[in-house]
Amino acid sequence: MTDKANNRSQDDMHPRIKELSELLDAVHRLSNTRCSDELYGTFADIVSKKLNADAIAVFNFNQEINSFSLVYNQGFKVWKDELKSGGGLLSRMRKNGLQPMENFDDLPEVKSFFREKKTKSQKSVTWALLNMKENVIGLMALNKPLTEISKNDFCLDFLKRICRHAAVSINSCLLHERHKKEKEDLDKTLNNLSLLYNIGRAMTYISDLKSLLKYILNQAIVVTVAEKGSIMLHDPDTNQLSVRVLTGLKDKEYQQKVNNNEIKCRTFEPGEGVAGMVFQTGEPTFINKTDEDRRFVEGSASFADSIACIPMKVYDDIIGVINVTNKKIGGGFTDDDIEMLGAVADQAAISISKAQLWEMAINDSLTGLHVRRYFMAKLQDEIHRTQRYKKSLSVVMGDLDRFKTVNDSYGHTTGDKVLKAVGVFLKKSVRDVDSVGRYGGEEFIMFLPETVKESAFILADRLRKGVSQIEVDNLPPVTISLGIATFPDDGKNIDELLQRADAALYAAKENGRDQVVVYTREVPVPENRDGLV
Ligand code: GH3
Ligand code: MG
Ligand code: MG
Repeated sequence: MTDKANNRSQDDMHPRIKELSELLDAVHRLSNTRCSDELYGTFADIVSKKLNADAIAVFNFNQEINSFSLVYNQGFKVWKDELKSGGGLLSRMRKNGLQPMENFDDLPEVKSFFREKKTKSQKSVTWALLNMKENVIGLMALNKPLTEISKNDFCLDFLKRICRHAAVSINSCLLHERHKKEKEDLDKTLNNLSLLYNIGRAMTYISDLKSLLKYILNQAIVVTVAEKGSIMLHDPDTNQLSVRVLTGLKDKEYQQKVNNNEIKCRTFEPGEGVAGMVFQTGEPTFINKTDEDRRFVEGSASFADSIACIPMKVYDDIIGVINVTNKKIGGGFTDDDIEMLGAVADQAAISISKAQLWEMAINDSLTGLHVRRYFMAKLQDEIHRTQRYKKSLSVVMGDLDRFKTVNDSYGHTTGDKVLKAVGVFLKKSVRDVDSVGRYGGEEFIMFLPETVKESAFILADRLRKGVSQIEVDNLPPVTISLGIATFPDDGKNIDELLQRADAALYAAKENGRDQVVVYTREVPVPENRDGLV
């Protein structure tokens, strides 16, 4: 059918049929709208066009606070978007059988709602409830007197019917949206819980402090979608917070050096800057405009627009803080971020303090190298592994030359400094798979898995040269003598192996010091020697 023919056929319709089809079209439009915001607009459009009104407002009803909130407004000048029905408007409408009513200008809630007593065209306002039987869903205000609307029976009928349909559509739309939101929230909670569960599980498997801190920091970055982060731990001896790991910096070299303890970032006093404040108060904080906040003190090599900082607590003790900076997706940190970060921090704190205790037990406090007992246990494990895979493992023993004279000439404290410097140098000069221990006073020991004699000699000689170049307080260079024995060639078990390495070290001393001796059958094994030189 052409448009012309269609118009003609509508013109020919019985007026009642025309009215009904108009109503049906309107109902159809409402039922086809899925999103509530769109629905308010569609409803307002239908009503204002049909009743020829120049202003219309739609409200949702919140039963708990007995208040209507404005969700759509076209043409009214209003003060605010809440219309509290302190019993007045709603109770009057209930008395009127929930029918449309005109002019509530005398009600204080209505007076305080509109900016002008009446709208520009000086018409009185018609109010109609959007209700499903007794259940109030919303409200509509129309800048058109009810008396005028009532002049045409169909218009009043249309208004009442379309309001009922709108109530049903809005109600089902809101229900649908609420369910969708609840499902999304639930999915998010489940996701977060499983993430936290996995983080917690992983933490229990990582016993070495550095790896643990790195792992925790990376998880903190992931859960908050942050660009950068750091973990600061509190040192009870100095009462300072110092950065132990960093991630996300552009300057990767600096980051690596800090992470390997080669350089130190600036430290924070309790109460200083955001981290210091969070440490002192134990309260998590986020700042989304660091340039406007005086609590923020910029740390070296990091630039932050926004920062979130969480304390790590073990019972009442705060052991440090986790900082994350700059959201990758833009915007600032939210309460949700703080909540997730808090959950990570709670698990992290326990794992970190366990790892700290463990590190204290296995590492020597002066040099940071493994203590003898722990080194021996590790060596025993490594010998078993070497045996299983039919590989070689070399043990290197070292003893500083004439160290007594260092102490005698410069004092014990200076001697300690030298020991520490040698320990740090040895540790950083070997691979991660190698292990270095402090065997006794100024005696060191290391094992090198999958390393044959020749390679062990090359490394040991490099270490010997390196030690002689260590500078401490302008002291004359210290030197070291080293002995090497290799499993399984030189010894079938840990005792034999250590005895042979010790014999090689003894030979190095005997031969004049500052040298490396590899054990051979020609190297005499001294009788009754207990340990090193
Ligand atoms: P060499 O090994 O070349 O034969 O001579 P040495 O003087 O180093 O002799 P030895 O290895 O027997 O000496 C150990 C000395 O190391 C004794 C002590 O003065 C010093 N020493 C051991 N432990 C420490 C320590 O923890 N701190 C300091 N400052 N000195 C230590
Ligand atoms: Mg010595
Ligand atoms: Mg010694």
